[in-house]
Amino acid sequence: MIWLPEVLFILVTWKSHKIVTFCVVYVLSHNPVFSLLAAIGSVVPDLIEGRGFLSMNPYKQYRWQQNHRKLSHWCIPYIAICLICLFILRQNSLNVYSVVHLSQFLQFPELLLVSWISFAVSSGAVMHIFEDALSGKVPLFNPKRKNFGIRLIPVNSLFELIFTLTVVFVTMALLIIRRQHA
Ligand SMILES: [Zn+2]
Repeated sequence: MIWLPEVLFILVTWKSHKIVTFCVVYVLSHNPVFSLLAAIGSVVPDLIEGRGFLSMNPYKQYRWQQNHRKLSHWCIPYIAICLICLFILRQNSLNVYSVVHLSQFLQFPELLLVSWISFAVSSGAVMHIFEDALSGKVPLFNPKRKNFGIRLIPVNSLFELIFTLTVVFVTMALLIIRRQHA
């Protein structure tokens, strides 16, 4: 059960993850609802790590440090969920682009609805991990070994802000160009 303070915490943190994920997924999917779900999914890997970093208990903080960006940031399960959902949607001749209106959702069989939402949320989680790989190491094949990534964009730095704004700018430019050629 998530309470109001948690909801507020989720809303105000991980801003660049949410913005970058929304923009990139929107350019790829052309679907605002799918992109919004992906943006929500982009907080999942950090969210499931718990809030041990806030703990006053040194042992809990140590445990959190040890496990930080390990299993929760292992991209393979999220990619597997994406592929399974994509397979189910394709089997039913459904692509991501085609579902924009709520009325279409309501007509879906449950399996397709769950697949569509899971695909969006998991793709957001995958995006989060690759974004984290630009600021440090995350696991690739072995969830216990953080050996994939490059320390290019420090977290909460000015460079992160510039990177986020660049993604927003490029996304808008791509959308404008596409509109003009449509
Ligand atoms: Zn993370």
